[in-house]
Amino acid sequence: MERPNAWKQYDETALARVEAAAERYKKYLDAGKTERECAEEAVRIAEAAGYRSLEEAVREGRRLKPGDRLYQVQMNKAVMLFHLGKAPLEDGMNIVGAHIDSPRIDIKQNPFYEEADFAYADTHYYGGIKKYQWVARALALHGVVMKKDGAKVTIVIGEDDSDPVVGISDLLIHLSQEQMGKKMSEGITGEGLDIMLAGMPLKDAENDAVLGTLLKILKEKYGLEEEDLLSAEIEAVPAGRARDYGLDRSMILGYGHDDRVCAYAELEAMLQLPDIPEYTCCCLLADKEEIGSVGATGMRARYFENTVAELLALLTGKESDLALRRALSRSRMLSCDVSAGFDPLYASAFEKKNSAFLGRGVCYNKFTGSRGKSGSNDANAEFLGRVRKVMDEHQICWQTAELGKVDVGGGGTIAYICALYGMEVVDSGVPVLSMHAPQEIISKADLYEAIRAYAAFLQDMK
Ligand code: MN
Ligand code: MN
Repeated sequence: MERPNAWKQYDETALARVEAAAERYKKYLDAGKTERECAEEAVRIAEAAGYRSLEEAVREGRRLKPGDRLYQVQMNKAVMLFHLGKAPLEDGMNIVGAHIDSPRIDIKQNPFYEEADFAYADTHYYGGIKKYQWVARALALHGVVMKKDGAKVTIVIGEDDSDPVVGISDLLIHLSQEQMGKKMSEGITGEGLDIMLAGMPLKDAENDAVLGTLLKILKEKYGLEEEDLLSAEIEAVPAGRARDYGLDRSMILGYGHDDRVCAYAELEAMLQLPDIPEYTCCCLLADKEEIGSVGATGMRARYFENTVAELLALLTGKESDLALRRALSRSRMLSCDVSAGFDPLYASAFEKKNSAFLGRGVCYNKFTGSRGKSGSNDANAEFLGRVRKVMDEHQICWQTAELGKVDVGGGGTIAYICALYGMEVVDSGVPVLSMHAPQEIISKADLYEAIRAYAAFLQDMK
């Protein structure tokens, strides 16, 4: 039961569309290197397509009607889009949900120290990373610093060609006998991931003169005191833009495909909807998935439920807890998150028949989890049957997979959290090579098929 390769099915028109989608996606990746930037960019795209703030509608008590397009932002880090359909909200929504946070290295709250005429920032990594992949490479700093008076200082350093970059040094091979003998998980430690920020001492300072240089720059360029870092979120991410990968340009190399590739595919799918879709369509872009969907911006927080309650009230003019529960439990959802692409260089980690292959289209994972499907959603066969029908009716190139061999590891998504409402959910995403590495790889064909798959699901899923 081998699935066909999407590239073989494309004519000239389709190839041009694949390429155009890839170009648009690369721009989204470059504009969004943090969850905040991705959320901002999503709102910009939505507003340009006629979406309006739900918060505003709530404030004005404006009645909503089918065809209305609305967005809601949760603490600048998660976004929900709604395109209201013909059917009552109580009949459920067609939902596509992804996450916009990616593994990275966060700057600590009290980060700075000086050692041997270098100024450093101490860090705490975020999400699952192989630490050795993050040393000896160019990093950029993105984030916000909140001052006590409420002023927000936005930081992006290392993306413009004229910007400096920063980074974490590695030990020279000549002196690495001990390090190279260690387990890969121990060769570089979390506490050792310190980012070098400066190396020039202030002329007239006696102690910590390089730190003095760093603080002087922060003060002069950004108006910041060291204490302002106490209320900051600064993330170190790989510097540079997403690039075409492979001599045939069939792939994209970039930071944060997990899960911005699915997030972007969802956004494009939402923009392809007819003026009034059959069912209300929803695009969820959640934060904190990489650390367990925790916190007020993670999927486990109730903002989605609360937002649907607001929608219901503005649509029907009344409040009903039962209607809310129905709207949620009768919904149909694709949990859109990347899948592990089969990698011939590491074939022993995969069971080939049940692996996702780059270029064979959007991938459905009936379940994720680890060991005995622990922590997975495990979609219902009944639902999968209906999804298959929609995919085939739209001639989507799609495949099914597990994350890897049984017992070699595992992972989770937001699927099981949305399933708590009693709605039907299945995982569906783009296969990725080198997942969670500073630069990940996807196939342009899979991005294109994901956009088509999500659009088909939103429009036709019943
Ligand atoms: Mn993911
Ligand atoms: Mn991930």
